[in-house]
Amino acid sequence: MASATLRFYEELNDFLPSGRRKKEFPARFHEGDTVKALIESLGVPHTEVDLILVNGRSVSFAHQVQHGDRITVYPVFESIEIGSITRVRPEALRSTRFVLDVHLGRLAKLLRMLGFDCLYSNSYDDSCLSRISRTERRIVLSRDRELLKRSIITHGYCLRSDKAMDQLLEVLQRFDLREKIRPFSRCLRCNSILKDADGVSVADSVPEYVARTYDHYKSCPDCGRVYWRGSHWEKMRRMLDANL
Ligand SMILES: [Zn+2]
Repeated sequence: MASATLRFYEELNDFLPSGRRKKEFPARFHEGDTVKALIESLGVPHTEVDLILVNGRSVSFAHQVQHGDRITVYPVFESIEIGSITRVRPEALRSTRFVLDVHLGRLAKLLRMLGFDCLYSNSYDDSCLSRISRTERRIVLSRDRELLKRSIITHGYCLRSDKAMDQLLEVLQRFDLREKIRPFSRCLRCNSILKDADGVSVADSVPEYVARTYDHYKSCPDCGRVYWRGSHWEKMRRMLDANL
C-alpha cells in the first residue's frame, strides 16, 4: 500500500482523533485513490474542505494521490482572501438556503424564526436530502458525516454541537449570516413567507392578552398561523446579542 503525509488545518481537526490533530501524520491509501477518498477515509467530509494543496500546488477533489505526496487540507474560509488559488468546491451559493436532516427539527424552527429558508421533514431519507440539495441548490445541515461524504452534495456543513441553540450559532457564524437575519418573516411550521396582518383581522386567532398588548402581527398565507414579537423572541434576541 502507498502512503502520503497529511496535515489538516483549523476546525477540520474536529474530525480527527487527538493523535492526528494539528500536525503532520502518515496515512495509507490504495493506488488510484482520489484525494477526496483519502481525506474522507480519515473522517473529514468533503463539504468541510475548501482548499487542498499537494506538494504545494492546489488540486481538485479528483486528483489522484501518489506515494510520498505531502497534502495540506484547509477548511472553508469565509473571510480570508486566498486569491487565485483553486478552491476545490464551486463558488458559494448566492442565496443561503438550507435543507436539514431528519434529526434537526428544532434547529429548522430556530433558523426559520430568523427568516432563513429551511426545508425540513422527518420523512426525508439520505438520498432524498441529497437530491433536494442538488436540484434546489440548498446547503445540507447534518451531524451525519457519511451523508456529507456523498459526492452529489457540494455544499454542506457538519454540525458539531447536539444542542439546537448552539447549532444555530454555529450556522450563523459559519455562513456569516448575521446581516441577513430577518426575524418574523417566515412561518415556523411551513417555511412560507409571512404577510402583514392587522390586529382586527387576527383578533379571533390570538389570546386576549396578546390582542391587548400587540399591534403588529404577521400571518402565514398557507397555514393561517399568526405571529407576534412575544417573550420568546425577546429571549432569542438577547441570546443573539450576547453571542454574535
Ligand atoms: Zn404556515
